[in-house]
Amino acid sequence: MSSAIEIGAVEWAAYQVPTDGPEGDGTFAWDATTIVVVHVHAGPESGLGWTYAPAAAGHLIGEMLAPAIGGRSAFDVPAAQEAMVRAVRNAGRPGVAATAISAVDVALWDLKARLLGVRLARLLGVARPAVPVYASGGFTTWEDLHLSRWLSDHLDIGRAKIKIGESWGTCERRDLARVELARRILGERELYVDANGGYSAAQAIRLAAEFPEVRWFEEPVSSDDLDGLRRVRDAVAADVTAGEYGYDLPCFARLIPVVDCLQADVSRCGGITDWLRVSALAAAHQLEVSGHCAPALHVDAAAATPNLRHLEYFHDHVRIESKFFDGVTPLGPGGTLTPDLSAPGHGLTFKAADAEPFRVAG
Ligand SMILES: [Mg+2]
Repeated sequence: MSSAIEIGAVEWAAYQVPTDGPEGDGTFAWDATTIVVVHVHAGPESGLGWTYAPAAAGHLIGEMLAPAIGGRSAFDVPAAQEAMVRAVRNAGRPGVAATAISAVDVALWDLKARLLGVRLARLLGVARPAVPVYASGGFTTWEDLHLSRWLSDHLDIGRAKIKIGESWGTCERRDLARVELARRILGERELYVDANGGYSAAQAIRLAAEFPEVRWFEEPVSSDDLDGLRRVRDAVAADVTAGEYGYDLPCFARLIPVVDCLQADVSRCGGITDWLRVSALAAAHQLEVSGHCAPALHVDAAAATPNLRHLEYFHDHVRIESKFFDGVTPLGPGGTLTPDLSAPGHGLTFKAADAEPFRVAG
């Protein structure tokens, strides 16, 4: 195998997909999701990556990242990723640039695996044959009947997360009623809640006393409030978690001392290159990592992570990934994803014709 296969053309496009109903959490509401899809070409192959981010991430890929990686070896992904990070120094990495870097990094890892004719999980090194997931949806905008049906449809997974903290924590009674409804439907299964930073620390501690059976309390306060996270973690029975807005390693280093489980998102944190570093950082502090959303994008990296807890099987992204990609790993018994090790790369191909009606840029 030649080591001289150079990275060539980089193509991107952005697609906006309406949700299947109004969606909201503690601190945000939306009715559409934008996905930026990137293909990186080298030799006879191309790699596929994506991120859930505004079209601006695609423009940034074309303007700043493609020139930074063009002509580099397609086998030396960390060098290409570092070149992208350096290219955005003045633009600023956290936020849109990090999502753009992440999409290209995943495409580069997929490209390398395809050039070598191996499954991406194999290239990274398999640590577990099956990856556990948890159901994620339960939006504050859903009426109780909708929430009940969604929970009932996902009982086989054995773990489900609902959104609380409605309207910046001003609807406590409804939050508690919805938690109780979910608890009744889930029975002995694991119940998770996510406040998306909607509560104050004292409020989160007070409310958590009302739902001691909850196993996972995600972003009870803003992830910028490190002292608040620490206070809640020290006071509640549930595992306190955060990390979905981790756009670089220093952010994860700050969160590690104040959470029980570190979340990370391959489509934001710097791609698979930095997912592996985040996981190692967590392991050094006896923490597990949990993948945030975009399950099809995470599955190979998750399978290569010894200290993985699970992946978030997020309603919107599951819907878009099944619509836009062939080769998505099907959900298996007990809520697990088992990558097909006979398929090269991450095993996914983009269904461009199906996505075309949703294209908004690129
Ligand atoms: Mg969350």
